[in-house]
Amino acid sequence: MRDAAAAKSSAGAVLTIDLTALTANYRDLAARCAPAVAAAVVKANAYGLGAHRVGPALEAVGCRHFFVAHLSEALDLKAVLTPSSSVYVLNGLQPGAEADCAEAAVIPVLNSLEQARLWRDQARALGRPLPAALQIDSGMSRLGLHPDDVQRLAADLDFFDLAPLALVMSHLACADTPERSENANQAQRFAALADALPAAPRSLANSGGVFLGPAFHGDMARLGVCLYGARPNGDQPNPMRPVVRLDARVIQVRDIPAGQGVGYGLTYSRPEASRIATLSVGYADGWPRALSNAGAAYCHGARLPIAGRVSMDSITVDVTGLADLGLTLRPGDSVELLGPHQTLEDVAEDAGAIPYEILTSLGHRYHRTYLEGAPQ
Ligand SMILES: *Cc1c(COP(=O)(O)O)cnc(C)c1O
Repeated sequence: MRDAAAAKSSAGAVLTIDLTALTANYRDLAARCAPAVAAAVVKANAYGLGAHRVGPALEAVGCRHFFVAHLSEALDLKAVLTPSSSVYVLNGLQPGAEADCAEAAVIPVLNSLEQARLWRDQARALGRPLPAALQIDSGMSRLGLHPDDVQRLAADLDFFDLAPLALVMSHLACADTPERSENANQAQRFAALADALPAAPRSLANSGGVFLGPAFHGDMARLGVCLYGARPNGDQPNPMRPVVRLDARVIQVRDIPAGQGVGYGLTYSRPEASRIATLSVGYADGWPRALSNAGAAYCHGARLPIAGRVSMDSITVDVTGLADLGLTLRPGDSVELLGPHQTLEDVAEDAGAIPYEILTSLGHRYHRTYLEGAPQ
C-alpha cells in the first residue's frame, strides 16, 4: 500500500471535507427546526462526500434518522451506523426487494398502493409487524401516493397493524423559492391527507423547507444540501459553514505567443503573449465541461480564468496576470477550485448547474482528506 502522504502528493487534486463544519451545520439546522427531529439525507454517498464518514459523524452529534435513495445505499450505511439509527429508502420498495429490506431492518418509503401491498404481505409472511414510511404526493407529481390512494389505504386497517407507520412524509417542489404560494398549498394538502391516516410523525421540509418557517417543520425535517454547506435559497447570505474545499494541482506552465489557441478546438486565444497553467482536474473528475471559457481557479485570491475547453483529465487556466502581483505558479503547486474565493454557488452559476450537481459529481480520483476537530 502506498503511504498517505505519497497518495496525496501524487493526486490531481485534494478534496478536503470538514466534518466539524458538517456537524456544526447539523446543530444549527437542528436548532432552527426544533422541536422537530433533524434527520440527515445521505443519499448519493452523502452528496458525494462519503456516507461512511458523514453518517457516523452525524450520529456522534445525535442524529438518529438517515435517508438514502436506494436499498443498496441503505445496506452500506447500516454497516457503519449503530443499530439504534433508522435508515429510510426514499425511492421506495422495488418488487422483489421486500425480504432484503425486512431482513436488514431498513424502512422503505412506500410510494404506491402496490408497494404498500408488497410490504404488508412480507410482514404477514414473517409473522411480525414491519415499520413503514408512507409518502403522499401533495403536489410535486414525482413520488408518493395519489390523494385517492391515501383514502383507499386509510380504509384498510389491516395494513396499519402489519405495517405500522413510522413516518408520513411529502416533499416540497418549491422550497428554495419562499415567495411561491405552492409551498403553503402543499403544506395544507399534506396535513389534510395525513389527517385521514392513523396518527404518525409527519415530515415535509427538506433544507429549504426549514427556512420557510415552523409551519413547515412538522415532526421531522429531512436535511440534505445545507448540511454540506450550500445556501438554502438565493434571498440571503449563506448561513451555513462551508464543508468542502478543492485544491487542484498544476502539472505544467507554458508561455504562448500572441494569438495562439488553447485546448480542444482552440477556442481561447489572446491578442498578446500569455501564460497558461494546466491543472490535473477535468470533466472525468466531475468538473463540468460547461465551465469551458467560463469558470475560474484562484491563486491567493487572484482569479485565473479557465482558458479554452475543459478536457477529460485537465483544464487550462490563464495565469498571465499573476506576474503583476508578484506571484508565480510551478508544477506541483496547488490552486483553489472550491474554497474561500469560490463557493459551490459560484461554480454552479458559472456552469449553469446547481450546487447539488457540483457536490454529487465530485471526482473519485481526488485525494480525500477528512478534518475532524475535538468533540465539542
Ligand atoms: C433529496 C431529498 C431531501 C433533501 O433535500 P435537500 O434540498 O438536499 O435538503 C429531502 N427529501 C427528499 C424526499 C429528497 O429526495
